[in-house]
Amino acid sequence: MDIEFVAVGTELLLGFTHDTNARDLARALAPVEGRVVRRATVSDERRAIADAVGQALDRTGFVVTSGGLGPTSDDLTRDAVADELGLALKVEQTVLDDIAARFAQFQTGPMPASNRKQAEVPDGAEVLSNAHGSAPGLWIEGDRGTVVLLPGVPSEFRALTGEYLVPRVRLRTGAGHSVQSRTLRTTGISESALADRLAEHVASLDDLEVAFLPSLGTVDIRVTANGEEDAVGRMLDAAENLLRPILGNHLYGVNDDDLAAKVVEMLRQRRARLAVAESCTGGLIAARLTEVAGASDTFLGGIVSYANEAKMRDLGVAEDLIERGGAVSEEVAQAMVRGVTDRFGVEAGIAVTGIAGPAGGTSEKPIGTVCMAAAWRGDVQVVTRHVPGSRHDVRRRAAQAALDLLRRML
Ligand code: AMP
Ligand code: MG
Repeated sequence: MDIEFVAVGTELLLGFTHDTNARDLARALAPVEGRVVRRATVSDERRAIADAVGQALDRTGFVVTSGGLGPTSDDLTRDAVADELGLALKVEQTVLDDIAARFAQFQTGPMPASNRKQAEVPDGAEVLSNAHGSAPGLWIEGDRGTVVLLPGVPSEFRALTGEYLVPRVRLRTGAGHSVQSRTLRTTGISESALADRLAEHVASLDDLEVAFLPSLGTVDIRVTANGEEDAVGRMLDAAENLLRPILGNHLYGVNDDDLAAKVVEMLRQRRARLAVAESCTGGLIAARLTEVAGASDTFLGGIVSYANEAKMRDLGVAEDLIERGGAVSEEVAQAMVRGVTDRFGVEAGIAVTGIAGPAGGTSEKPIGTVCMAAAWRGDVQVVTRHVPGSRHDVRRRAAQAALDLLRRML
């Protein structure tokens, strides 16, 4: 089944907001044989929205929109679509009651008058109730086809897509056929080295598509299977079993698995606790560990020791170590990890010190030089890596590599 997507929002055209709804829609529909065959992005203008929806409808007969359902004057999707389809709008009391109840529940005061607009429903449209926000979605069936209006807020867009769109598309396609993906997540190996390793094996995976997706410090291998609904799961299992041994210890997880969550999990299994000492990453490692819900039984805390003074005072790094080898040196990384594990009294530690740039590089220690150390029950491993990219990238790659150093020790 062919589907078109129209993203509404001037902020998308200006590049201030990334169109994640387009991505989420395509991913959600692929398994039920809904293909997003074209997408358009338009500004918050009535004419632009109406034209885009009308043209898309005449091509495929099934259009999904996102955005422009809010209460403000730039939210015009409802009006534009009603215009295009020649439908009258009228306030639906039950929708208005729902919105008012939401305001009461979250104690944000009485419902502002502008929210009344969100209760307007085009004649004959079905209201898709939205438990996650104030704007309900709308489902319109007409002579020209189907138009589904969903809110722009990504969490609401995803929720309504999952609750309404996916099951209904599945009903229409009678999906006995399915497209599913599985992602194998690797770190510590380049995309090209991975591709070389996997080349002959990938060639043997008939009916499967393999994509290499590099991002900061991670290369995801996404395997996509296209086949009978009850076979695709087995096809993906077989592919995973084939690739796992080849990826070895570079593989740290599957699908949405996160490296920091993996480290927390491994430490929890060992009933051990972790503390971190961060210089150039400035808390990025701690931030990633605290993203993991419930990590407090495992991650005790850390010290951001950015200046030399803090490395000495808070971690006990000896002044002459810094004077001899510089703050970015394996000796200092090692002293930092020992300092932080001692002070927190924990079994595991991570320390990072590096040159993130844009200044501070030398020929001996260019920008991107990162020394990191991991400690595990008295053992310390220390490595120096040269990572590419901007200051932003170097800091994130360093955090990823340091977490990975501990993972490999564990
Ligand atoms: P709206 O429903 O147009 O008022 O949008 C509500 C919020 O969702 C705004 O902060 C938008 O920037 C965001 N948003 C709208 N469309 C998208 C989209 N296609 N992808 C990601 N975010 C979006
Ligand atoms: Mg908008």
